Amino acid sequence: MSDHPPTLPDVRMNLIRPKAPATSRVVSNELCMNGKSASFVKHLVLDVSGTPLAGNFRAGQSFGVIAPGTDERGRPHKVRLYSVACPSWGEDGDGNLVSTTPKRLIDEYQPQRPADDPSDHRLFLGVCSNYLCDIGEGDEVLVTGPNGKRFLLPEDIEAHNYLFIATGTGIAPFRGMLMELFEGAGGPTGARAVLVMGTPYTTDLLYEDLFQRLHREHANFDYLTAISRESERLYVGALIEREIDSLGHLLQDPRTLVYICGLEGMQFGIFQALARHGLADGYVTLHEDLAAKPPDDWRFGDMKRRIKPTARCMLEVY
Ligand code: FAD
Ligand code: NAP
Repeated sequence: MSDHPPTLPDVRMNLIRPKAPATSRVVSNELCMNGKSASFVKHLVLDVSGTPLAGNFRAGQSFGVIAPGTDERGRPHKVRLYSVACPSWGEDGDGNLVSTTPKRLIDEYQPQRPADDPSDHRLFLGVCSNYLCDIGEGDEVLVTGPNGKRFLLPEDIEAHNYLFIATGTGIAPFRGMLMELFEGAGGPTGARAVLVMGTPYTTDLLYEDLFQRLHREHANFDYLTAISRESERLYVGALIEREIDSLGHLLQDPRTLVYICGLEGMQFGIFQALARHGLADGYVTLHEDLAAKPPDDWRFGDMKRRIKPTARCMLEVY
């Protein structure tokens, strides 16, 4: 298959360093789940006008946030990264309002190191995510960045088709990218785009109204959801296999780009699904050990260092 790798745009990075963060201001901070959910995810809009971030971020990049206060050692909190959730022209069209999608990290304490007490089950609250979900209009937020130079739409968006695959807040960059593809000043793209989104419950789907509307308005955009804890346990990889008749055509097209964002483990189920249908070529390079085995015999541990994404597969997982 002749390959069409993307040309990525040059982007600005690290214009604001953690040692000298810039001050932004909250414009709005609203829940963005699909109804009443057990989790809390916000669509947070920050005014970055007058800072080096203004006009200098792109959908797919992230920016840093420094929560106020100090950590348990008395040092200022470290920077946490948050994905840009808006198009490159911002929420306002001028690049002065950047948005992101913070999710409260709320859990029971779980041991992280061998020395940790396994019987400690007190409430664990992530520092920066809860700070970002607590703040309101007018509050000041210290920001850094932008960060990232590979998880980007190509320079010529009409030269490619797109399969976007997200789990949870991994949807953030795809909100911005899809708005860029379908709601830009030049009119909607003629490229084909499919978004596959995985969440535990239907109520955890994020920005549902936007994606449903884009699907209704554009015959070249499909939106598929993999819900893991309702009537069946469906993950994004299994959903792609279920829809392989239609997605197969998209994936066989050498112009198609695959973007994967979210939980660290998600890419393996996706790569395995593609390989089972002879569709992994062009998106990943397999180490010879793995290439010699049928995909059903691949083990999770084997995959980590033996599958490398190609230029047509963008990966942002952790
Ligand atoms: P922290 O206070 O930093 O706590 C998290 C740490 O505590 C973990 O690293 C882990 O070591 C430990 N921990 C976790 N759970 C437990 C537990 N139950 N018990 C004990 N210890 C535990 N997040 C978003 O919500 N939205 C985004 O758009 C987003 N984009 C990102 C983009 C990039 C490129 C990256 C790298 C990360 C992104 N993140 C995003 C994640 C974000 O950076 C933070 O990691 C996340 O918000 C948690 O930070 P926190 O300060 O709330 O948690
Ligand atoms: P969430 O709402 O809990 O949804 C995650 C979904 O993925 C659940 O349905 C989960 O199913 C499913 N899942 C679990 N393991 C999977 C696997 N191996 N393959 C496919 N699906 C799997 O998600 P969240 O709490 O928002 O977490 C999203 C993750 O993305 C976090 O780790 C976040 O830090 C990360 N993230 C990364 C970036 C980035 O790198 N740019 C940006 C934003 C977010 P079950 O739970 O039912 O098993």
